[in-house]
Amino acid sequence: MKTINPGATIGIIGGGQLGKMSAEAAKKLGYNTHIFCPKDGEPATLVSDKKTIAEYNDLSALEKFSNDVDVISFEFENIPAKSVEFLERTNIVRPSWKVLEISQNRVKEKTFIKNIGIKVAPFYEIKNENDLENAVNDIDAQKAILKTTELGYDGKGQITLDKNSDTKEIWKKINTNEAILEEFVPFDAEISVIIARNTNGEKSSFPPARNIHKNGILDISIAPADIDALIQRNAISIAEKIADSLDLNGLMAVEFFVVGDELYVNEIAPRPHNSGHWTMDGCQTSQFEQFIRAVCGIPFGETKIIANKITMKNLIGEDVNNIEKMNKENARVHLYGKKEVKSGRKMGHINYVE
Ligand code: AMP
Repeated sequence: MKTINPGATIGIIGGGQLGKMSAEAAKKLGYNTHIFCPKDGEPATLVSDKKTIAEYNDLSALEKFSNDVDVISFEFENIPAKSVEFLERTNIVRPSWKVLEISQNRVKEKTFIKNIGIKVAPFYEIKNENDLENAVNDIDAQKAILKTTELGYDGKGQITLDKNSDTKEIWKKINTNEAILEEFVPFDAEISVIIARNTNGEKSSFPPARNIHKNGILDISIAPADIDALIQRNAISIAEKIADSLDLNGLMAVEFFVVGDELYVNEIAPRPHNSGHWTMDGCQTSQFEQFIRAVCGIPFGETKIIANKITMKNLIGEDVNNIEKMNKENARVHLYGKKEVKSGRKMGHINYVE
């Protein structure tokens, strides 16, 4: 494993809050960061040592960026996999572009997970209205969710339907030619595991968190999850199996539906994840620090919970203007520095530590 030592520069593609918190963690460990993103003023550009403001498919800007950094990673999935593959030809990219390519496409992602023997919701690849009609006739569940295959996040590009829905109308509304229909999983709870893995195959997981969504967006994460210990252990072993099968070098979130004592994987994200923000105040090592450690190939930090309970509350849109109300004694406030408040936009989060 090539170790990237403190003093080196880590290139991060993406300028959002995940990049910001990763850059801060990198600084704490003595690294410099260089952010590559299309828009100046994005959260990560406010704290990084260097920034390149260019489109993700600008190969000459990517080449210059690559020449300036010692290792490259990314903080979100909606980057052309081809650009990352381009960087991998001349620099160390962790995780590999192949991992990105799988995780940014819901059909590839679910097929990969299913093929390694892990449960996912029954799904159908949908390319036209006819596919949708056939799939809707075929589903066993009462309800199903039609999602765009790529570029969907926080419930965007998703339509819930049932056997009586007007498929013609819905196909028009989703407005894509690449979609996936997933049977609705009647879950008892949603949990997620954040796992890091390095090039030697060493792994380190954080305890699972319980996640509660509002309008398709994560609202609250609670750690430790109030879920049976055996289910929690199973979730960690599933995350380990996925990380090994992907040959992951980096950090990944695995989101699960819990149904009775069964686990279904909803999705994976090969980067720090919103449901791991509780680790910033709940563990000796945050997910962001662990991400940097994994990407640089230095030993992992301790992941045990250092409080009785941590509750992470996302500040979405106007929430950020009401933080005085939420600012209780045990509140640790994290704001991302986004200038404009928009409905549904993640502006910050608060970790309540008990
Ligand atoms: P996603 O963008 O796929 O993570 O979906 C956002 C949220 O929608 C999930 O965290 C669930 O709360 C809900 N959801 C998505 N897919 C399903 C499904 N197949 N069954 C039940 N709920 C789902």
